[in-house]
Amino acid sequence: MQVPAPIAYERATSLSNAIELLSRHGPESRIIAGGHSLLPMMKLRLARPEVVIDINDLAELDYIRANSDHLQIGAMVRHASLMNSDIANRYFPIFREAETVIADPIVRNRGTVGGSLCQADPAEDLAAVFAALKASVVITGNNGSRTVPISSFHIGPYMTVVEPDELLTEVIVPLRTHVGSAYEKVERRAGDWGIASVGAMIVLNSGQISEAGIGLAAVRADHFRAVEAESFLLGKQPTADVIAQAALIASENCQPVADQRGPEDYKRHLVKELTTRALNRAIDKAREEGT
Ligand SMILES: Cc1cc2nc3c(=O)[nH]c(=O)nc-3n(C[C@H](O)[C@H](O)[C@H](O)COP(=O)(O)OP(=O)(O)OC[C@H]3O[C@@H](n4cnc5c(N)ncnc54)[C@H](O)[C@@H]3O)c2cc1C
Repeated sequence: MQVPAPIAYERATSLSNAIELLSRHGPESRIIAGGHSLLPMMKLRLARPEVVIDINDLAELDYIRANSDHLQIGAMVRHASLMNSDIANRYFPIFREAETVIADPIVRNRGTVGGSLCQADPAEDLAAVFAALKASVVITGNNGSRTVPISSFHIGPYMTVVEPDELLTEVIVPLRTHVGSAYEKVERRAGDWGIASVGAMIVLNSGQISEAGIGLAAVRADHFRAVEAESFLLGKQPTADVIAQAALIASENCQPVADQRGPEDYKRHLVKELTTRALNRAIDKAREEGT
């Protein structure tokens, strides 16, 4: 089925108007941002909203800015804007590395950060990126805004803690010094979803790992994170043996399933290899910053 069911269409003029429209139309309404996930699902009748609320006019949600402590990314930032953002990539080159391998220019020109996170596809690359960076998200509704750690945001495949009358409005990434980050992904062909993807963030302090973030996509890691591997790295010198052990732990603490993208053992092998590569490159970048 390639034609969506009939829908009503609303075009929000502001954030408060979008919230008002969500409240007025109730749980059968859905936000549409880039539409790259929602529209295909509507065409396949996997999603059947009665009303779509278009938030493409909400320039107030399209910004990337840094203050002394945080990088703030509005929900309507397009993949292409994040990929090309000097400010975001100056702090975290993981953004450009991940965005370069997300889909194709057509999807990247239209798809948004908020839409990607709210779609909550188990293979979503930005979910792994923000998990590695230990970001938080701001969710806004009639009762104001609440801030939720990304580790509590996804509650299952295609499910998040965003309520029907709320929007995701911002992603907040804490800034660090002596930090490095990197992204690794293997896909069947350019622009495809990952068979396995790994994001890494490392902070070095006097040569030791003082903070580690490892995000995994497409391999059913709880909340897109390799928590056990992160804990293992803390306080250690980043030697080859330590990195190899962390990568092994990451590959053992996810639950990939066999599908058309490959068997389970192949995906675990990829997690081990990609975690090793991402950690090594993140560590190199952290060293370049000095410790
Ligand atoms: C051909 C193709 C290839 C792709 N390849 C990849 C890939 O390799 N890696 C990858 O990670 N992704 C990939 N994607 C997915 C794509 O990056 C994202 O799914 C897409 O950009 C989602 O963003 P959107 O703005 O289009 O969301 P939409 O389709 O507009 O919305 C998606 C969902 O999020 C909700 N939503 C959107 N914005 C908000 C908000 N601010 N608050 C609350 N709810 C909201 C909508 O109601 C809907 O349920 C691919 C997509 C396509 C079509």
